[in-house]
Parts: sequence; structure tokens; C-alpha cells
Amino acid sequence: MILINITIGFLGLLIGSFLNVVIYRVPRGESIVKPGSHCPTCGHILRAWELIPVISFLIQKGQCRNCQSPISWRDPVVELLTGILFFSTATVSLRLDTHPARLLLNLIFMAMLIALSLIDLDTFRLPDVLTLPLLVIGILGAFLIPGNPSGWESVLSALGVGGIFWTIALFYPQGMGLGDVKLVAALGAFLGFPSIFLAIFVGSFMGAVIGFILIFTGQKRFRQQMPFGPYLAFGAMVALFWGTRIIDWYWTFV
Ligand SMILES: [Zn+2]
Repeated sequence: MILINITIGFLGLLIGSFLNVVIYRVPRGESIVKPGSHCPTCGHILRAWELIPVISFLIQKGQCRNCQSPISWRDPVVELLTGILFFSTATVSLRLDTHPARLLLNLIFMAMLIALSLIDLDTFRLPDVLTLPLLVIGILGAFLIPGNPSGWESVLSALGVGGIFWTIALFYPQGMGLGDVKLVAALGAFLGFPSIFLAIFVGSFMGAVIGFILIFTGQKRFRQQMPFGPYLAFGAMVALFWGTRIIDWYWTFV
């Protein structure tokens, strides 16, 4: 069993390497397939060994082999993070006896959340080319794969939280963008009730705590724009990993 988790973790490292391409190219409107991976400074085409996640960064000491321009330290971090999250998703899904197709769905969910979070951090945008497919995959998966949420639960959950966030965005457009509305609808489709509320609660709480720390340490000004996507994504991951446990624990107090 553990062999499957480790294999999926290694697969995560490779997917993380691809996510770096997505994070860089999607906001620039470039193709994610062509041309192949290259150094953004000198155009040097990366050879197979230069594409090995994390290791190639260490061997090249964080520099392009051709022009010595620095490679962002964030690239290997994204690869490692994707590997760890894939391993964790596999571990939790196998423990809960999740349908194999839903495990695949959860891995796609994780990968897209990582890409969206970093694009939102870089650009304050959550591109439709990622949020809308995420919503569609979430709903289709719920209809086609046995387990939670069921198809209609997924649709209702997406419409419900999407509607609430859309109303907030109408009245408070400087605080919430339409990208956040589409993302939260997609999260609703994936998680269903009541997990989506846990995700929003955890995400908002984290956003408030980190916002407070950034203002307190002088790194952000009060009312300065802050991306909400990464916090929502974090909340969704917490809900996916520990949702049932946290909600059961909560009910023991009611
Ligand atoms: Zn170069």
C-alpha cells in the first residue's frame, strides 16, 4: 500500500514541475505545451536531466547552465509541495477507501489549487481557463463517481456558495473578485456540504491572521489588496484531508 502512495508522491514532483510552467505561462496567455521548457532569459532548451524535479535545481546550483541567470527558488519548492500534497492525498484517500477514480479527481483538484494559488499571488487573478474547468470537473466527477458529494449535492453546493460570494462581490467589489466567486463555486462542487463551509471558514480565518501579521510587521498597508485564492485553496485542502473528522468533532459540542 505504502508503495502506491510513494509512487503517487513521485508523480507529484513531476506534476509540480509542469505546474511551474502553467503558473508562468497561463497569466501571459502562452501555450503550456509549445515550446518545450526553456530558460526564460536566454532561451536555452532544457535537456531531459535538467527537467528532473528538485535534483536538477540542486545540481545546477539554482542557475541556468547556459547563461548563469538565477532560477527561482520557488520552482523546486512548488515541486516538493506538489509531491508532498500528492502523497498526502493518496494516503488519506486510501485510508478512507476512496474509489480510485475519485483519488484521481482529488489529485487533479490538488494540482489545480496549487497552480491557482500561485497565479493569484503573482497576478491577483484567478484565470477562467483554470477555475471553470475545475468547476465542470468537480460536478461531472460527483455525478459519475460513487461517493461524496453526490451529483446534485455538488451542483447545489456550487450554486449556493457561488451565489453567496457573487452577492458579496456585487456589493464589495474591491474585496472580492469574480475569480474568487468561480473558485468558491468549484470548491463547493468538489467538497459538497458541509465541508465547503469548513473550507471557507478555515480560509477566511487564515487570511485574516496572515493579513494581520503582514500589516503588523509593516509588509502590507491596511486595505492593500490581498489575494484570497491561496487561503480558499488552503481551506479546501484542510477540508479534504480532515473535513469529516473536524465536522464530527464539532457536532459533539452542539
Ligand atoms: Zn539561460
